[in-house]
Formats: sequence, structure tokens, C-alpha cells
Amino acid sequence: MSVLIEARGLVKRYGARTVVRRVDLTVAPGEIVAVVGPNGAGKTTTLEMILGIRRPDGGRVTYRLGDPRRETGAQLQATPFFPHLTAAENLQLFAAFYGVRLSPARVAELLEGCGLAGAARTEAARLSGGQQKRLAIALALVHRPKVLFLDEPAAALDPRARREVRELIRRVAREGTAVVFTSHDMEEVGKLAHRVVFIIDGEVRAAGSPAELLARHGAPTLEDLYLRLTEGQEV
Ligand code: ADP
Repeated sequence: MSVLIEARGLVKRYGARTVVRRVDLTVAPGEIVAVVGPNGAGKTTTLEMILGIRRPDGGRVTYRLGDPRRETGAQLQATPFFPHLTAAENLQLFAAFYGVRLSPARVAELLEGCGLAGAARTEAARLSGGQQKRLAIALALVHRPKVLFLDEPAAALDPRARREVRELIRRVAREGTAVVFTSHDMEEVGKLAHRVVFIIDGEVRAAGSPAELLARHGAPTLEDLYLRLTEGQEV
């Protein structure tokens, strides 16, 4: 299997506290990887080290995809866009950040691909929650990255909007872009992820496809497995 990103033994310390301990994570083309675990487990820190936003205190990240800044896209914030610019203007502005000029046809294609064809001239602030989330994803795709990172992409959305975001993630992956996302919704993770990585207390405690994980741990659902793996954790 070819691999685009290979993180080995990542460690992050804040003062005397080690918040990420020897985490391994690989990403292959077109694959959807879910990173799950309790709040404060080290998921975001791990993704930020892989993205080069935070410097690891140990381990290394190998990129097999050219310039990682150009080949990765990330949406780690809830509403990253400029609220008073239209959806199309936001896309053009974000493309400019990457030094990419978007043709009107490419803007239309991106909006269409993210289910926002009718929203090109709508101010971002006026879009629905689900549309805003899909715009956030479109903004991370302007430069055609090979790997897309999303932090809780479906959090706080209604069921229809969640489904739309799930379908968008599947489409992005089918077109060859790997997607790495975090989520607390185990049902969603089971529906969407090809591979699930449980990070608990800074460590990878279990990893594999949903089916492999359930079989290996004898758990009826991913939620049961989550509860079992996090038993005794402070909440
Ligand atoms: P998760 O994404 O799983 O919720 P994080 O990676 O955000 O977890 O955080 C892991 C731990 O590191 C948490 O205990 C958090 O409080 C701590 N942490 C994160 N960023 C910093 C920082 N800049 N300084 C000190 N501690 C931090």
C-alpha cells in the first residue's frame, strides 16, 4: 500500500506533561481515517504536529507527497471564513493565500462539488450551519490537496446537514483525496471511516478498520469499544 504521510513515534510535551506519547499514524491515498478519543487525549496536537503547525518533541513525520503545505488542506476551526464575503469570494481569497488563481469555472466546480451551487453569491454569514461547514471544507480544497484534515466536521449539525457533510467527505475520498477527521460520534465514525485510530491519554490504544476492531476486541459496536477503552478515564 502506498502511503502519503507516515508519522512515527510522535511525542509532545508541555512543560513536565507529556500529552502525546509515541503516536504512529499513516495516511494512504483516498483513505478516510477517523481519529477518536476523549477531549484532551491529544488528537488535535497529533494532527497539528503532522501538519507542521506544532513541532514534535520526538518522532518524525515523513511526507511522500511533495511540499506538505501545498499538498495538505486543513479545517481545524469551526468558522474560518470571512463572514461578510460571499461563498465564491471566500474561495477566491483562500485560493490567493495558496497563490492559486481560481477560474470562474473552478469556483463553480468547487461550489457544485460541495453542494453549494446555489450559494455562490450568498454571504458566508447567511449560510445555514451545514452550508457553512461545507464551505469550510471547500475552502480547504481550493489548492487540490492530497490529504484533507478536518476537526469534528459534523459537530453541532442537524441530522440532514451531518449526512450532507458525510456524503461530501465520501466524495472527496472517492476522488482520491485522503481525509483524516476527528469525531465524537461513533456511529458516524463507523459509517464513514475506513480506519479508526483511538488516541487515549496521548497513546494509540487501538487502530484498524471498524470491522477489524470489533472482531479483535469482541465489541458489538464502536461506541461499546470506545467506552471499554476509556473506562476509568476522568471526564
Ligand atoms: P484533543 O484534541 O484530543 O481534545 P488536544 O491535543 O487539544 O486534545 O490536547 C491535549 C492536551 O494538551 C490537553 O490536556 C490540553 O490541555 C493540552 N494542551 C494543548 N495545547 C496546549 C498548550 N499550548 N499548552 C499547554 N497544554 C496544551
